[in-house]
Amino acid sequence: MSSAPLFRKLALIGFGLIGGSIARGAKALGLAGEIVATARSPQTRARVQELGIVDRVVETNAEAVDGADLVILCIPVGACGPVAQEIAPHLAPGAIVSDVGSVKGAVLKAMAPYLPESVHFVPAHPVAGTENSGPDSGFAELFVNRWCILTPPEGANADAVDKLGAFWRGLGANVEVMTADHHDLVLAVTSHLPHLIAYTIVSTAEELEGVTQSEVLKFSAGGFRDFTRIAASDPTMWRDVFLTNKDAVLEMLGEFQEDLSKLTRAIRRGDGDALFEHFTRTRAIRRGIVQIGQDEAAADFGRRPKQLGAKAE
Ligand code: NAP
Repeated sequence: MSSAPLFRKLALIGFGLIGGSIARGAKALGLAGEIVATARSPQTRARVQELGIVDRVVETNAEAVDGADLVILCIPVGACGPVAQEIAPHLAPGAIVSDVGSVKGAVLKAMAPYLPESVHFVPAHPVAGTENSGPDSGFAELFVNRWCILTPPEGANADAVDKLGAFWRGLGANVEVMTADHHDLVLAVTSHLPHLIAYTIVSTAEELEGVTQSEVLKFSAGGFRDFTRIAASDPTMWRDVFLTNKDAVLEMLGEFQEDLSKLTRAIRRGDGDALFEHFTRTRAIRRGIVQIGQDEAAADFGRRPKQLGAKAE
């Protein structure tokens, strides 16, 4: 890249799927002059050092943010408040402080009280992921053609929002700005509820009597397999999502239960027309997702995007 990088120093706190993917992408695309990373455990820090993706691995969060003009917390939602409190005295004036948490209202509430007025707080959520976690799981292309939602608090500095948006666009994402509350409602139906359903159905199948475990595994391509991928997602992350987006998830769950009751009734009454009409509508939604490029028509989801310039690590 010939032009100056967008940021002088990028500090990544947490180096799992998301932090590791940001690091790999930002490195490959020259989005930051220096990338410094840290993680909670010595094991993860040692692994990040071995991977050799970032310029420096440091031991403490305070050291990581020192002099950084972009700080991104890539840690579970429930850990964001305490980490904000810890880094607050060490943040450089004018720095943009962001995160990648899957719930935004709770992150805003947990972090904002600790951050000094001299920094710009712009929470973000890249709507991209896999069921894998840890420092080896990331890849530079994770965000390509996915959406990154920015949820700046009221009165946020517009230049800071634009600059963070440019960073995410640099990683290949499309950027949208909305309020934290709206984000949490939208994601409750597009992500949180589907995960809850997957977690439920997989455990239902596990506890069945009359159908053996080996039969469940053997015939999983009938639909079950796709749920198992989602249900393999990180337990810490998803515990935090349901604890922190409780209201929106419960609202969507109520809607879901009503719809499930309608389908249950249609099955009980043998109402083929109702079932056919319902499945026709849902098929159109799937086709719409393929049409706007958020998935491929080919079977199986959770594939890595293939259309990228940068190579996966
Ligand atoms: P991950 O692969 O499990 O990595 C989590 C990182 O956070 C690790 O470096 C871990 O450190 C650190 N960490 C865990 N607990 C911590 C704590 N209490 N204090 C400080 N650091 C802690 O997770 P991830 O998938 O990258 O998720 C990170 C964030 O991205 C979450 O907020 C999640 O909601 C959001 N997100 C995830 C996805 C997804 O599909 N996975 C998608 C979009 C957004 P150690 O390795 O040292 O334990």
